[in-house]
Amino acid sequence: MKRLLDPIARVHLRATTRQLSSRALEAQCLCGSVQLRLDADAEPSHAAAFCHCTICRAFHGAPFAMEAGFPVDACETSGATASYRSSRHFERRRCAACGTPCGAVHHKLGAIFLPTALFAKPGAPSPPPGFEPTMHIFYERRVVGDAFEQDGLPKYHRMPP
Ligand SMILES: [Zn+2]
Ligand SMILES: [Zn+2]
Repeated sequence: MKRLLDPIARVHLRATTRQLSSRALEAQCLCGSVQLRLDADAEPSHAAAFCHCTICRAFHGAPFAMEAGFPVDACETSGATASYRSSRHFERRRCAACGTPCGAVHHKLGAIFLPTALFAKPGAPSPPPGFEPTMHIFYERRVVGDAFEQDGLPKYHRMPP
């Protein structure tokens, strides 16, 4: 039988949620079995970028990826993931159940590249801190023509110098 929460319990739940979200940015995969918690104070180790490389396009099944890199210790991943090594050091993770990309760990750099879209709150005036895209990388591989030509962001053929 479903138990209804009394008003005090409801207030307590809301307070708990607020407390957690002030310490960590949270995201989850489509089915909810993988949870990502990013330390809210973590500074990106690799600035948020649109990546047009062929690997990101295939991995995300999208014309480009939007990712930001953080120190690997700053992000806690729970739930079952499946991994694919797209290169010797780069381990790309998906939810084992629904296939949502859930971060790519670069073991040599000690960084986890997170898909910024999972952390975005629809309708929010701006992405969470550290997630605002700052550049385009592998721009020469783009499949979107000149769609981004006027966005004012730097565009690098490959990685920034
Ligand atoms: Zn899932
Ligand atoms: Zn890429």
